[in-house]
Amino acid sequence: MTHILNADLHCHSVVSDGTLTPEALAQRAKANGVELWALTDHDEIGGQDRAMAAARDAGLPYLTGVEVSVTFANVTVHIIGLGFDHTQPALVAGLKQTRGGREERARDMGADLAKVGIPGAYEGAMKYVGNPELISRSHFARYIVEAGFCTDTNAVFRKYLAEGKPGFVPHRWASLGDAVGWITGAGGVAVVAHPGRYKFTANEEFALFTEFKAHGGQGVEVVTGAHSQADYVKYAEFCREFDLLASRGSDFHSPDESHTDLGLLPSLPGGVRPVWELLEARTH
Ligand code: AMP
Ligand code: MN
Ligand code: MN
Ligand code: MN
Repeated sequence: MTHILNADLHCHSVVSDGTLTPEALAQRAKANGVELWALTDHDEIGGQDRAMAAARDAGLPYLTGVEVSVTFANVTVHIIGLGFDHTQPALVAGLKQTRGGREERARDMGADLAKVGIPGAYEGAMKYVGNPELISRSHFARYIVEAGFCTDTNAVFRKYLAEGKPGFVPHRWASLGDAVGWITGAGGVAVVAHPGRYKFTANEEFALFTEFKAHGGQGVEVVTGAHSQADYVKYAEFCREFDLLASRGSDFHSPDESHTDLGLLPSLPGGVRPVWELLEARTH
């Protein structure tokens, strides 16, 4: 029987909204048995050199990674990029532009949260931010738990930060075509992240995958922390229907917050082709 590779191609460090450094993540991945790893910070590749060096030190094969925030049909969709040249100028500039709106959005979130009785949330969130260009809802959630308004970050999202809740500030991220173009233009492979999390109708989801393919996207996350067993089956079927390759990643953020640890998730279902088969030449 052929060996099933323990690939974990989705996680976050302090360079975005994770709580561990790239170095600590590399060691944790290795200790958990990961055999191919990618750090995929939100809209940010500033941690790639550190992750790659730490992976090399740990004897852990590495692919460059990123998770790009996209607005599609007025919904935020995440697109993972893997195996790109992280010095490619259009990718670097596009991600910088995508990050640009976060500061103003965070100030607006702080003002809106003050109106519902949570003062000082912007300043409080900033205490948790590791990268001043990447203030995220996760940092607000950590502060709101610290301040005693909720007992855990999931509850904060449900009550304050999910779409339609008082601390949610709508934001326009990158377009689908731009995000896929930056990734493929830098030699990488684009993957739809955690499709089971979006609240699309069947028609909207069909449109997402059709347009994603038309822009040059090649992969879909089938096994990921937020997916159920039914999602594994559904998106393995999407791989066949749309001729896509399957990816796998925990979406690990923090030992205290994440349900799924690095490398500790089911294997891809049978009958799909793993996305890493396309990326052998891009492995560090
Ligand atoms: P942002 O990019 O600032 O909108 O923040 C998005 C991040 O918030 C995601 O990547 C998750 O880490 C986190 N997040 C979103 N929804 C939830 C939720 N329901 N529970 C916990 N974390 C969430
Ligand atoms: Mn996140
Ligand atoms: Mn995501
Ligand atoms: Mn993620």
